[in-house]
Amino acid sequence: TGLKAIEAKLQQSEERHRLLADNAADVIWTMDLTGGFTYISPSVEKLRGYTVDEVLAQTAEEVLCPGSLIHMQEGLARAINSVQNGLPFQVFRGELEQPCKDGSTVWTEATVSGIYNEDGRFVGMLGVTRDISDRKRMEEEIRLLSITDKLTQSFNRLKLDETMEVQFEWSKSSGLPFVIIILDIDHFKLVNDTYGHQVGDRVLIELVTILHNHVRDGDVVGRWGGEEFLIILPNTTLADATVLAERLRQAVANYAFSTAGRVTISLGVSAFATDNSPESIVSRADTALYLAKEKGRNRVEVK
Ligand code: GH3
Ligand code: MG
Ligand code: MG
Repeated sequence: TGLKAIEAKLQQSEERHRLLADNAADVIWTMDLTGGFTYISPSVEKLRGYTVDEVLAQTAEEVLCPGSLIHMQEGLARAINSVQNGLPFQVFRGELEQPCKDGSTVWTEATVSGIYNEDGRFVGMLGVTRDISDRKRMEEEIRLLSITDKLTQSFNRLKLDETMEVQFEWSKSSGLPFVIIILDIDHFKLVNDTYGHQVGDRVLIELVTILHNHVRDGDVVGRWGGEEFLIILPNTTLADATVLAERLRQAVANYAFSTAGRVTISLGVSAFATDNSPESIVSRADTALYLAKEKGRNRVEVK
């Protein structure tokens, strides 16, 4: 009867655990040492649209998107390696993108720990997978906010600085050219003084629209400061960028801005050459812009 009592207790405990796993919002799963699922909780269907039976039959490639598969495999290899070296299973925690039945993907966070049998032998893995798509969306929104200029909705200085750094390193190692155009509204103070700050704001917004209408997809347009903008043109020659700058100058000069009417810009163009920092490229473009102002404004100078 002692044995019976123990068995009953064990069964009760098993049932309780099964009940917990089956009803958890997170997906709970176990995996054997060959990488095959041995249990998946039903909440997987809500997460990915596949039934438990469908997931049990899936290969690793069907469970994880390519980048995440590599991430997970590396993490598990590290964890298993530590077990082989007589150390405890190193808990793996990673953000993973997983394919859903409807063709979309979902971001999850998986925490994987080792399962040991009563002899202390490592026999498999226990994972808890949580839907983090809301957090991911929020992070993406925050990221976008942090690199966007509130008034013009173009990129801000932070994004420009980041892009300059990346572009500079890329050109330095690849030898491929890149060019920047820095531009500043002529006599903008006069616009504000004549029509008021709100009309000035409107000019900035409309100017950004003109700039966007003339650049290519990979080009980065951003607000460098007050009424100054920077355009980063990857993989572009100085000659092509100069043609674009001249086109921008004309487009702005010919545009009828709301209330303010005619507004012009001055532009400075410079290409990556033997510069040893992004700042030195900007500095030359600045010099060119200064020259354009000095020579009478509404013009393009190259330096
Ligand atoms: P220049 O041709 O030499 O560039 O003359 P400028 O009047 O454009 O140059 P200045 O630097 O003297 O004036 C820039 C003006 O831009 C002053 C500042 O109030 C205005 N400004 C900067 N940021 C904003 C903004 O967000 N909105 C508005 N409306 N004005 C701004
Ligand atoms: Mg200025
Ligand atoms: Mg100005």
